[in-house]
Order: sequence, then structure tokens, then C-alpha cells
Amino acid sequence: MGIAIRLRREHIDAMIAHALEDAPVECCGILGGSDGTVHVVRRAKNVEASPYRFRIDPLETAKIERGFDADGHEMVGFYHSHTGSEPIPSPTDIRQMGPLFGPPFVHFVIGVADRDNPVVRVWYIEDGDRSEQQYELID
Ligand SMILES: [Zn+2]
Repeated sequence: MGIAIRLRREHIDAMIAHALEDAPVECCGILGGSDGTVHVVRRAKNVEASPYRFRIDPLETAKIERGFDADGHEMVGFYHSHTGSEPIPSPTDIRQMGPLFGPPFVHFVIGVADRDNPVVRVWYIEDGDRSEQQYELID
């Protein structure tokens, strides 16, 4: 596991807050930044509105990406929650995100099956598989 992404504690907290708010439905969102560093966390709508999967409308992805461009960021990754299972990308996640959003895009999965103990893990998804990465907290 290497360090794939750097971010601040507030970014982690924002993803966890979103996950807890939307549970048991999975939440999702997009991360903007540059050079492997997150600058902003943008919530997106889970059009599946499901406890078992998520999907972001490609039009919303494009809109968020245009907003990043306007602010001088680029898209660096995604997040979504798992509300009843381990924070490991599912076969559906891999099928959906792998083709377009392989490395260097990162995929955070926020596990909130135990609401009092959220678990945050980050992954690369590519070639039909996932590999766990590390994140580094910065000031
Ligand atoms: Zn998932």
C-alpha cells in the first residue's frame, strides 16, 4: 500500500457526516484537488437511493467537474458509503467505476455499519479489481 492521496481531517469528517446523514441509503460525492491532494469535498446525489449501491448521474459528475475547473481544481477521486457492510469496493462498484476512474483517481469508502465507529478506507479500482491504498492527513 502506498500513499495515494493527502487530505485534511475536515475532509474525512465531511465524508463521515454525509454517510451518517444519509444512512441507511448510501451517500456519494466527488473530491477535487490537485497533485494527489484533496482541496474540496462535493456531495453528489445517489440516484439509486439504495442501501446497497450508488450511482452518480454522469451529468452531475460533469457539472461538479466544471465547478472544479472554474475554481482551479481537478477531479481527484470519489467517495461513497457502505451502510451495512465492510468499506471494501463491491463487485458493482468495481464494474461501475473501474472503466473510467482507475488510478490516479481514488475511491474512499466510508463504513458506517457501526455508526459510532466509522471506518474510512481508500482504494484504487482498475482492471476489474481493487487495491487498498493509504491516505495521509495533512494540516
Ligand atoms: Zn460500494
